[in-house]
Amino acid sequence: MVLLVPIEGVRPKRKIELKEILSVMAEILSKWGVDKPVVVKDNEVLDREEVLEALRKLGVRYVPIKREDEQDYFTALDHLGFYDDIKPSPLRVFNSTLELLYKNWPTPLVRLNSLSTGKIRVWAKLEAYNPYSNSVKDRIGWYMVKRYVEEYGEIRKIYEATSTNTGMALAAMGAIMGFSSKLYLPASIQKASDILLKALGAEVVRKPKSLTVEFIDEVQADAERDGAVNLNQFENDANFEVHLRYTAKELDLQMQSAGIRAKAIIGGIGTSGHLSAITFYFKNKLHNTIKIYAVQPAPGETIPGIRRVETGMKWIHWSKPDRIVDVTRDEAIEGVLSVARRDGILIGLSSGAVASAFKKLVEEGVVEEGDYIAVFPDHGFKYVEQLQAYFEKKRI
Ligand code: PLP
Repeated sequence: MVLLVPIEGVRPKRKIELKEILSVMAEILSKWGVDKPVVVKDNEVLDREEVLEALRKLGVRYVPIKREDEQDYFTALDHLGFYDDIKPSPLRVFNSTLELLYKNWPTPLVRLNSLSTGKIRVWAKLEAYNPYSNSVKDRIGWYMVKRYVEEYGEIRKIYEATSTNTGMALAAMGAIMGFSSKLYLPASIQKASDILLKALGAEVVRKPKSLTVEFIDEVQADAERDGAVNLNQFENDANFEVHLRYTAKELDLQMQSAGIRAKAIIGGIGTSGHLSAITFYFKNKLHNTIKIYAVQPAPGETIPGIRRVETGMKWIHWSKPDRIVDVTRDEAIEGVLSVARRDGILIGLSSGAVASAFKKLVEEGVVEEGDYIAVFPDHGFKYVEQLQAYFEKKRI
């Protein structure tokens, strides 16, 4: 007999780290369901608790359970309330600015004229439609705080290394939940960031170096010294998890509803959280029939929000992209302008890098006809300084 019970009602015996259950999650996604139910007695798990935890991290509403002596059966993910957590509020009335974030998903997926040519159709996922930092990083700001509070209780003070967006998301969370934040920015980031972060009530520290492992370690040491919480977006698995459970799942549902069978997905990498989770989700679900292209700054170039793979990132090694494309800052800005001047939306520099990398792949002949997804992490308003410098250099 098929028995589905609400997932909160079933207690795991121990805490299971994400790394331990990656292969179980991969199997669930590739089979699109659970082969064998979790074995339960008196709400306590007796066997297959990795499956329970994998389902919890994938965000299902129900879990299939059985008693020890019963038969196994297959349950499809669609029967477990897999998509239930991303149904939006249709009339968009929210009880709080927290709900404005997670009850307002999915962020839009829009077909672009600027990048579509002939039979190549490009759809952009616009992460600027998140309320705090107008970026993809609102998702991790919310989820890292939520997970921490669930596990350890109240937060009083947060220290974090950021290139602006995670900082804005955490400062906003602090405003809503009543904790203070001290945010460490690398020297190369635009000056406007200090003002935006201060306006949200955060303390800002500029460090005269780029966002290296050393930078991140120093922030952690400061946090330990001062008794502050360092959520550390570069190492915190809540980063990968939120994108697996929401960003990738949203994209999947949106593609299904529009009948899009994407040939490839292209996106930028900073911590590598969002693109790694999207890669993991779709590579497993679609049995490697989809390509993933990751975008990084060319050697010696700085593009806010994205970094070169060799500067060290965690999740990109869990499910590898098919190709990494280098982009210069000028090319990223040219990507911003080409989208702005044809589609009328002002995207951020890392989004411009994604647009420009896609054009390079088209020019190389790598892109065949069909549908493509580009993930655009943020909006262009933060990057007026870089746009101004570009216009002055090119005498536009
Ligand atoms: N683009 C922008 C503007 C960002 O702020 C970030 C991250 O800070 C990224 C891209 C990269 O996203 P991820 O950290 O998920 O790799």
